Amino acid sequence: GEPRRCRRLEAEAARAVLGAADTLLFDCDGVLWRGEAAVGGAAAALGRLAAAGKRLCYVTNNSSRTRAAYTEKLRRLGFPPAEPRHVFGSAYCAARYLRQALPLGAAAYVLGSPALAAELEAVGVPHLGPGPAALPGPAPADWAQAPLDPAVRAVLVGFDEHFSYAKLCQALRYLLRGGPDCLLVGTNRDHRLPLEGGTAIPGTGCLVKAVETAAQREAFIVGKPNRYMFDCVASEFDIDPARTIMVGDRLDTDILMGNSCGLTTLLTLTGVTTLDEVKGHQESDCPARQSLVPDYYVDSIADLLPALGD
Ligand code: PLP
Ligand code: CA
Repeated sequence: GEPRRCRRLEAEAARAVLGAADTLLFDCDGVLWRGEAAVGGAAAALGRLAAAGKRLCYVTNNSSRTRAAYTEKLRRLGFPPAEPRHVFGSAYCAARYLRQALPLGAAAYVLGSPALAAELEAVGVPHLGPGPAALPGPAPADWAQAPLDPAVRAVLVGFDEHFSYAKLCQALRYLLRGGPDCLLVGTNRDHRLPLEGGTAIPGTGCLVKAVETAAQREAFIVGKPNRYMFDCVASEFDIDPARTIMVGDRLDTDILMGNSCGLTTLLTLTGVTTLDEVKGHQESDCPARQSLVPDYYVDSIADLLPALGD
């Protein structure tokens, strides 16, 4: 189709674009807040969108919080009240995926956070981990004798600050034992988590890659840019892609998912992306790079306030 051009969403155009939408999907970190601090004016903008009758949903690749924890964070930072059913974190979406993909009673071996375990419990998927792997001896070669749970039929990899070689061994052994019948699922592939001051820590993508390398197979990824996360939203609410706006700060996750699902895409510059990166993609005639170009951008979602009246 037409090449996308990323236009600044000024008041006039913003009124029209928002008026044509009934649902907005918000990425969280970099859009609504950075770490523990709300983006200035973001809560007021969402308050007005909610008052105007828009449906607000939250889509985040961060697997280290439950849906309930996100509603609590939104409340604490002054955002309009959200219910857990409006929150689509990669922990919840992974749990939902495994519930439908696993045979009844089958369990998942989990590399992840307590929140990931809690979301699995909430949908009734039995799991092992995320505690330390039980090791029968001091040397890695002994670890191949560690007991394997006969119920495990999936390995799930999320953000795991206690990721270890021992857990990687157990994950591989489950995947070798089950062969293609053992599912391999990753919450997301974010390679880094940027921190203030230009520094960063390794993201979940590094952990997923480690397991994929050991197992020599590719994981199914639940989070953005995979459309599974959007499909979760669309199966729980009556969503018309043509009346839905995806708001995000990252091109290769948020904007790519929005574009590939037929949503209107809005980039905000309060997170990890600069306008120069967008221009680079826009000027390229490579289709894969074109799909990273959003329809619109704002410096901050607070810039939507004038279009939303008083
Ligand atoms: N994964 C982890 C573990 C994170 O801490 C974060 C951001 O804080 C993300 C992913 C990215 O989250 P989002 O999709 O909301 O930008
Ligand atoms: Ca983000």
